[in-house]
Amino acid sequence: MTALAPHILIVEDEPRMARFLSTLCDAHGYRVVHAETGADGVARAADHQPDLVLLDLGLPDIDGLEVTRRLRQWTHVPIVVLSARGLEADKVEALDAGADDYLTKPFGAQELLARIRVALRRVARNTPDGEPAITVGGLHIDLASRRVTRDDEDVHLTPREYAMLTTLARNAGRVMTHRQILREVWGPNAVDHTHYVRVHAARLRRKLEDDPARPRYILTETGVGYRFSDE
Ligand code: CA
Repeated sequence: MTALAPHILIVEDEPRMARFLSTLCDAHGYRVVHAETGADGVARAADHQPDLVLLDLGLPDIDGLEVTRRLRQWTHVPIVVLSARGLEADKVEALDAGADDYLTKPFGAQELLARIRVALRRVARNTPDGEPAITVGGLHIDLASRRVTRDDEDVHLTPREYAMLTTLARNAGRVMTHRQILREVWGPNAVDHTHYVRVHAARLRRKLEDDPARPRYILTETGVGYRFSDE
């Protein structure tokens, strides 16, 4: 174990789930701190300065949404929320409040580990010297020259389509809500115009995907938003 092993704060009140998460993270070389309540989670985040927070939304005192808001007042630490199936509105609210990603219970160990890696990588990626280009499969986005190619063929995008594509691709692997995309691409006054996002996602898929009905790059997160593939 090196001193550089990422530190994960787990905020989860259910003992079995907390044990599962702790054991899994520990077995994969992460250092783990556990909190059973929202208030304790906020306090431990301040004490331990974790590299990532796994946050259950349903907590006995303040809920995960409020924990997210409190953390976002002073830290950009990646937050991955864990929520029960069917509570899409809660997930969207948590993401809009600043959470990075979510997992719906029950989820598999590999899925969780993949999301942790994505969230930790995003922090590394969002340094001032960002990457000049993004490549996923046959898709290449040259951010310096604003040129997009698909299997080495130029793809012509409108400025808005390009902005939406780069917003998603810069956050590859991570879900983005409709509101987050609208804020980034159309500005803060447009956050309720969900149909803009749907229309542009459909246009981008027609230009970028082999089969727009079964997208490989721009994946739908039902009821939440979109996730750009990171592999
Ligand atoms: Ca719970």
